[in-house]
Amino acid sequence: MPRLSLRLQPYSTNIFTTITALANQHKAVNLSQGFPDFDGPEFIKHAAADAMRVHPNQYAPMAGVPVLRHAIAERFSRDTGLMCNPETDVTVTCGCTEALPASVMGTCNPGDEVILFEPFFDIHRSAIILAGCTPVPVTLHRAPGTGRITAPFAFKEAELRAAFTGKTKAIVVNTPHNPTGKVFSRAELSLIAELCVKHDAIAICDDVYERLTFDDALPHIHLAAFAGMADRTITLSSLGKTFSMTGWKIGWAVARPELSACVRAAHQFLTFSIATPLQYAAAEALRREAEAVPPLVSRLKSNRDKLADALLDLGLTVYFPPSGYFIMADFTSLGFDDDFKFVHHLIERIGVAAIPCSAFYANAHLGKPLVRFAFCKKPETIDAGIERLRAGLKR
Ligand code: PMP
Repeated sequence: MPRLSLRLQPYSTNIFTTITALANQHKAVNLSQGFPDFDGPEFIKHAAADAMRVHPNQYAPMAGVPVLRHAIAERFSRDTGLMCNPETDVTVTCGCTEALPASVMGTCNPGDEVILFEPFFDIHRSAIILAGCTPVPVTLHRAPGTGRITAPFAFKEAELRAAFTGKTKAIVVNTPHNPTGKVFSRAELSLIAELCVKHDAIAICDDVYERLTFDDALPHIHLAAFAGMADRTITLSSLGKTFSMTGWKIGWAVARPELSACVRAAHQFLTFSIATPLQYAAAEALRREAEAVPPLVSRLKSNRDKLADALLDLGLTVYFPPSGYFIMADFTSLGFDDDFKFVHHLIERIGVAAIPCSAFYANAHLGKPLVRFAFCKKPETIDAGIERLRAGLKR
């Protein structure tokens, strides 16, 4: 593609588009891309329909409709104990997907280094690349062993310390984490905070799975609440994962006024403002979050357990995730040694789609023995996937 910019040439088609097309072609049970095959609560849809009738269907204010910004600010203050001014500190974006590049573009200059953890969700790296910055990956290493691995991924302190240089402008922290399901511990976040303060770096936190944690001993912790971090953290989240409404693309960035102004400087030119009726409905969703979200979390947890048990039974090593939408597994005990070959086999011969994990690594070889399954599906979809895996992979 000679016309494609040099910046984007290595990343022309993302892995989710490629695998979903292959899955559709082979009518595979799609456990690849992270979107539910069911919709979130009906009341949110009704709220959107009502908003469409009652409110003008015109551009929303650039930073978001006030009722939604208030709901986000109250929620953030409740969660973190920090003050949050809805006028100056909250920006509504087109999903977290826009909030990420808006945050990087708004704060970093071409040539700056931005640290991220690998494996990473692809938009973390692309947000850095689009801003002309250099991604600096720090590896979350797999715990050794076979079978069910709990506490499966961790970075090495020395490697994180070494990643901070005179050129470091920011670090992207995604907790709970996609694709591993890792929930960063207080000790890990404390080290990240210490290094951000020491190197005057900002933290861009992708918290889209913040409500989807399954283990009371591993709650989501906000980096913004650590000493010295409130003025240097941009906290991102969105409606999609929390409420199983990924198609809505309502997200937000919360930061103190100086950093919020940076995010807004980019957001005003990326999308300017977000679908007005959906913002009113998002405010209603957040108002009823405590009642709406726990049933979704229980469904995810039981899917995780069922799929993990089935994969273990088939002989894969399972990196048991304490949160989120995904399970990562090592399939090499089945006689395969390449994630793309294994995924082609899964889709074309067995009829189940998953994501090859080398796509999530800058050091691609680290992902070669790994595959990612999504469990954010109807229980019957998980059952159908398990049935096909059992029929095709049984030892
Ligand atoms: N961040 C992470 C870690 C994700 O997994 C996803 C969606 N898969 C997003 C951001 C995108 O969020 P949104 O749908 O709100 O744009």
